[in-house]
Amino acid sequence: MALLQIAEPGQSSAPHEHRIAIGIDLGTTHSLVATVLSGKAKVLNDQQGRVLLPSIVHYSNQNIELGDDAKPFLTTDPKNTIVSVKRFMGRSKADIKFQHPYTLVGEDNQMPAFDTAQGHKTPVEISAEILKQLKDRAEASLNNPVNGAVITVPAYFDEAQRQATRDAAQLAGLNVLRLLNEPTAAAVAYGLDQDTNLATDRNYVIYDLGGGTFDVSILRFSQGVFEVLATGGHTALGGDDLDRLILKWAKKQLNIETLDDSEYAHAIVAARKAKEALSDQDSVEFSMASQSITLDRPTFESVIQVALDKTISVCKRVLRDAKLELDDIQNVVLVGGSTRSYAVQQAVRQVFNQEPLCTINPDEVVAIGASITANQLIGNSKDGSLLLDVTPLSLGIETMGGLVERLISRNTAIPVARRQEFTTYQDGQTAMLIHVVQGERDLVEHCRSLGRFVLRGIPPMVAGQARIEVTYQVDADGLLAVSARETTSNVSAHIDIKPSYGLSDADMERLLLDGYKFASEDKDLRHLQETKVEAQRELEALEQALKVDAHLLATAQLEALEKARADLQAQLKTDDIKVIEQAVEQLKVHSDAFAAERMNQHIDDALKGTKLDDWSNSH
Ligand code: ADP
Ligand code: MG
Repeated sequence: MALLQIAEPGQSSAPHEHRIAIGIDLGTTHSLVATVLSGKAKVLNDQQGRVLLPSIVHYSNQNIELGDDAKPFLTTDPKNTIVSVKRFMGRSKADIKFQHPYTLVGEDNQMPAFDTAQGHKTPVEISAEILKQLKDRAEASLNNPVNGAVITVPAYFDEAQRQATRDAAQLAGLNVLRLLNEPTAAAVAYGLDQDTNLATDRNYVIYDLGGGTFDVSILRFSQGVFEVLATGGHTALGGDDLDRLILKWAKKQLNIETLDDSEYAHAIVAARKAKEALSDQDSVEFSMASQSITLDRPTFESVIQVALDKTISVCKRVLRDAKLELDDIQNVVLVGGSTRSYAVQQAVRQVFNQEPLCTINPDEVVAIGASITANQLIGNSKDGSLLLDVTPLSLGIETMGGLVERLISRNTAIPVARRQEFTTYQDGQTAMLIHVVQGERDLVEHCRSLGRFVLRGIPPMVAGQARIEVTYQVDADGLLAVSARETTSNVSAHIDIKPSYGLSDADMERLLLDGYKFASEDKDLRHLQETKVEAQRELEALEQALKVDAHLLATAQLEALEKARADLQAQLKTDDIKVIEQAVEQLKVHSDAFAAERMNQHIDDALKGTKLDDWSNSH
């Protein structure tokens, strides 16, 4: 896996060569870049000394403005000024249900594009602009080309969202060493992975209140690896809400009924400034619609209590999901600009009953952690014992119809073990082929085969009755072991699979890209295959039933049933889902009548004193 590949001979850097690796926090409201210099992680500023790059891209007819330069266009040219592009990443047009001022183009089931003054721009392209700016900033500031980057993503990001992030980085000309979960990066920044006592597991809460989003994650650090135990949050809860609550309060205090657009724009900025000032002082004076008002800390605390309460209840729920008690939490880490608020810190302190870690600037901590990981991955760090890793591709098993059932998804932190139950497909089946595959596609033929083995000695049972437990286990070195066990008889078999040395970066890229590109096509194919398997199953059951009870049907009925059966059999050779579904429906009309006949007959027989066993055996 990735971890092993970077340590491969010939790939590690020469002893004195320092390679440039950066960590990028690609945030919803702000993005930034950090690097490790002389063993110390540092955020990098632009030529004006600014560290935070507002994640805003403005497309005018000629130019592209970014960050603070794009900000003025939010009011003058909102349609061409893209904010919070992160919310659109890896989403199809149909997925995007939240409010936004943009015109999106494209098919419902595909990646949308923003219709801008410079034509159609996808979320991937827009994010790439932000990443490129940060790359340029790093190169200017370090006077050297960047060799590799770690980019952070929310822990809850799915494969499509991660892939979109990876694509954006590639488009920006970055060599992605790894995507790292934001909470993991924060934990790394505080050195929580440097605990030498590997014998004990430790649990950490990462509380991240940013501009527009709230995320809380529980990480377990065990055997040198971070595992995400649970995540929760609100996609629309953050510093912006605190600003709105202050504005609402001030309006009420000042008896202001309504604000026009421009007054509102000024008022919300004033509210935000007031909030930020309260992190350093006890009270603040600001003005709204030409009136002046004072806000002190206790009032601020009560004004935003409703938002704080929401974050607290999420924290409690996530703890429950992770099945942990307060005592199990070793540390709480504060992340996100909004956790600079005294009131937020106070709330966290109370709910977790401990002093949260907040010595590292909360809006820089994720980028700092990412840069530390990047530095290790590129081979600069002396302690090369980086165990943190994730599975680079999904691991699955072949099921009926050549479909893949995923047991471990891509980017799952290792070591990991997953177990799933399967059953037999045919009556009396005594063996089962376990085919292990890797990749993001739904069909086996599009994935990479890792190995196969047969579980033999399953006691003959009716189809669907055997319980076969298949376990996939990936250890910290990326070694996969697969075992299968039939639970009633306890017969078992297993296979060890070597790490994916053979899978080149190009192969990996292709498998990932394919998964992304063909997602909707795969869904259709999966539906087709599942329908076929189901139809085949019914045909076989019907054949069995006819062997026993064909005499119950009148000749015409039997002929109609046989015809429907032959029709479906023939249609199964095609790939026309509509026609197959029709044939299934048609067969159902006749087979339902047959089933009813059989039922009546068996009840009669049973009442006549026939052994009940005859009845159940024929099923
Ligand atoms: P994101 O991760 O969503 O991009 P950030 O972590 O950059 O967001 O957080 C931005 C939020 O932090 C804004 O709502 C901003 O008002 C708030 N913020 C910044 N500085 C302070 C401060 N000193 N006190 C309170 N809130 C602050
Ligand atoms: Mg953030």
